Amino acid sequence: MTTLLACLTLIAGVALGPECPADGAASGATSRISSGTAADSLFRFQSRFWPNLHHFAYEQALLTADPPRNRGSTGEVASTDGLSAGDAAAWAVAVAFYRDSLIERDLLFDDELVALDGILGELPVGADEDALLEAGVPESLASILSDAAPAYRRHWWPSHDAANRRWIERHQQLVVHYGGELAADLAGAYQAEWPSQVIDVDILVYANWAGAYTSNDPPHIRLSSSLEENADWWALEMVFHEASHTMVGGRRGAVAAAIRQAAEREGVERPRWLWHAIIFYTTGELVRRALQKDTAVFFVPYAIKQGLWHRDDERQAELAALQEHWQPYLDGTTDFESAIAALVDDLR
Ligand SMILES: [Zn+2]
Repeated sequence: MTTLLACLTLIAGVALGPECPADGAASGATSRISSGTAADSLFRFQSRFWPNLHHFAYEQALLTADPPRNRGSTGEVASTDGLSAGDAAAWAVAVAFYRDSLIERDLLFDDELVALDGILGELPVGADEDALLEAGVPESLASILSDAAPAYRRHWWPSHDAANRRWIERHQQLVVHYGGELAADLAGAYQAEWPSQVIDVDILVYANWAGAYTSNDPPHIRLSSSLEENADWWALEMVFHEASHTMVGGRRGAVAAAIRQAAEREGVERPRWLWHAIIFYTTGELVRRALQKDTAVFFVPYAIKQGLWHRDDERQAELAALQEHWQPYLDGTTDFESAIAALVDDLR
């Protein structure tokens, strides 16, 4: 009951937005207490020092590159006013190293960077260079990070950690409340298994160009607490969008297999990003349904709100195809294989 009350309080709080009517949160919610409780074990939300330092240095390097790159960022170059000369110098060295050596490498698609972030997440806040080296941080980066850590710890970490914790406090109960149902419905829609282990979710001041990313084996989500599009109801969608990446990928899971088989049968190329369009569409639709059941919320899914479907002709074609062929599958009027085959045929 505590969980439900906390969630409804949060829903009322979130309902201040124009798309969240204030009388939103009552009937029908009690039926989901048990699934909500089970969802406690789906995710582990954390605000951790070293992953935040690593991603913040990466972001600052992007913002100070020529030309600056600000996708997925608030675009704020951190002021070094008030830092001691030593702290300012160590920080400048770190940002320069990231700019020269790391920002051309993608935080998600570079296996070494994914592994590095996994190592950093396990380190205690006060770890020194030896501890970093012992944990497996590459030598060149261990000294850079351990030298920059005091400056970060003194000047930015307290406010970053507070913002991350506020994000967690504000959204965790929402995820717990709807999580059991959404996890089951998404796994069902993708004909996949939800991960058997708890999914680590690092809440970061900066995540990557997309605002969030997920690596697999083990499943690990990183999500930015600084972006408006990751807040309120969209926090719920983003967490489950990212979790969907553990079940669906270009070569992962039943969705990818069905796309490949349908394309082979037709003798056509696989529509390259269909799997990701399916994640966007399915998560948005299932979150919309979940919210609509026990609130008066009129939820606009992330991809629609952010105009992602209208970025180019390919995205628009995907949306039209999903509405025509995938929506009936989500509505239960056609089966998985037929829906995927129709999508591939439409988008060939
Ligand atoms: Zn995605």
